[in-house]
Amino acid sequence: MVAHIHVLGGGLAGLSAATRMATQSRRVTLYEAARALGGRARSYYDSQLGSRIDNGNHLILSGNQAVMAYLERIGSKTSLYVSGKPQFPFYDLGTHKQWTLLLSKGRFPFWLFSSSQRIPGVRLKEYATFLKLLRADHTVTVAECLREGNLAHLLLTPLAISALNTPLDKASAQLFASILRQSVIAGGGHCLPLFPQEGLSETFVEPAINFLKFMGAEVREATRVTGCEIAENRIVSLFFSSGERVLVEKNDYVVSTLPPWVAREVFSPHVAGFTAPDEYESILNVHYRLPQELSLCGVLAESRFCGVSGGMVEWIFIRNGIISITVSAANRYINLSQSEVEEKIWGEVKTVLGKGFRLSLPDTPPFARLVWEKRATFAATPHQDTKRPSAKTSLSNLVLAGDWTDTGLPSTIEGAIRSGMRAAEACSV
Ligand SMILES: Cc1cc2nc3c(=O)[nH]c(=O)nc-3n(C[C@H](O)[C@H](O)[C@H](O)COP(=O)(O)OP(=O)(O)OC[C@H]3O[C@@H](n4cnc5c(N)ncnc54)[C@H](O)[C@@H]3O)c2cc1C
Repeated sequence: MVAHIHVLGGGLAGLSAATRMATQSRRVTLYEAARALGGRARSYYDSQLGSRIDNGNHLILSGNQAVMAYLERIGSKTSLYVSGKPQFPFYDLGTHKQWTLLLSKGRFPFWLFSSSQRIPGVRLKEYATFLKLLRADHTVTVAECLREGNLAHLLLTPLAISALNTPLDKASAQLFASILRQSVIAGGGHCLPLFPQEGLSETFVEPAINFLKFMGAEVREATRVTGCEIAENRIVSLFFSSGERVLVEKNDYVVSTLPPWVAREVFSPHVAGFTAPDEYESILNVHYRLPQELSLCGVLAESRFCGVSGGMVEWIFIRNGIISITVSAANRYINLSQSEVEEKIWGEVKTVLGKGFRLSLPDTPPFARLVWEKRATFAATPHQDTKRPSAKTSLSNLVLAGDWTDTGLPSTIEGAIRSGMRAAEACSV
């Protein structure tokens, strides 16, 4: 009999596991609590903005191999915007200088020797920071590796804080090193910035649902798992909030891609030594609807985003008549009122885009939508990292996935999709 795989959670880890196993002649059912799939990477129509937006700006890099394989599988690779160069325009709010990091395509860092491509004002000895980060053991924080100077201030700080979504005096140097290994260290060919042309759902979610349906898999939205029954060291049934009970037969598997706090509630009474991260960090996105489309020129016309150092804003994306900004590790701003946040952020956006990139913006902030994702990621600290479980569990037919499981990466799309692929491998019949 063909094994039935029950995938719990329809975020990118769940979609990755389900699409992978649907290609392996397995019977797949995916259960998602919400009415729409995508989890923390989704798009929706905002009636006040009069536009479809993503819950948060997501940037991926061409070196994200699991992401590329997933998009290839579901046929949506061409829906990504690719700027064509490993190029990252930045503006520093401290010195009011605009600069652009342009990495060399290959592995050898020729960019270090070109004044128009490298980080301004960095002394050669500062690059030793890379070695320190790459050699850090699992107890060390990013802040302990950084040395005073422009490399830390202009590049590593904004990069690390957005990749780890954790204040750097708490963030794991090892997790940051794993990001550096698959990006800057691997060379510019791995660092082409990519993001969905339309939206996250159009690139990552809707094509996956179509693919699953085409392959005969069942996708069940608005179906919340609440518990399970165990016998002979395996899950024998799943319970849902509707009162439904689904039987899990002998050769079947349950792949959980539930968030850590839900997985703990459902499985920790049954899984020996269950551990999961339990501290989270938030991300703030603010989306501004522009009265008219901005006409971009120069480096910004190619990249359509820029990084910011020395302020509250970290990234600015310009897309489809919307300016969207990202503030990572946003728990530190939780005491600011909404109007304080809006005023501060619009002031920074005007400075960066006006002074840095010569765009003219209205003085009064346009209508803004604040999306504050409170549990955007687990806190990427050395201690939280030790709580991440591997895919296999003490139950013979339960496999864990999700960006919070032990992927070797911080909470990222690459980590989520990689975890789904590993879960598929772990379901060996
Ligand atoms: C604002 C923001 C910005 C980000 N930016 C980036 C970025 O630039 N680059 C990057 O690589 N990553 C980024 N990330 C991280 C990335 O979005 C996540 O790593 C990834 O989406 C996690 O996918 P997942 O499937 O592991 O988890 P989730 O997306 O959380 O999926 C879990 C799913 O389980 C469902 N669920 C919950 N409870 C139940 C239940 N009881 N029964 C059934 N289903 C249930 C949820 O509704 C959800 O759909 C960002 C995240 C946020 C929030």
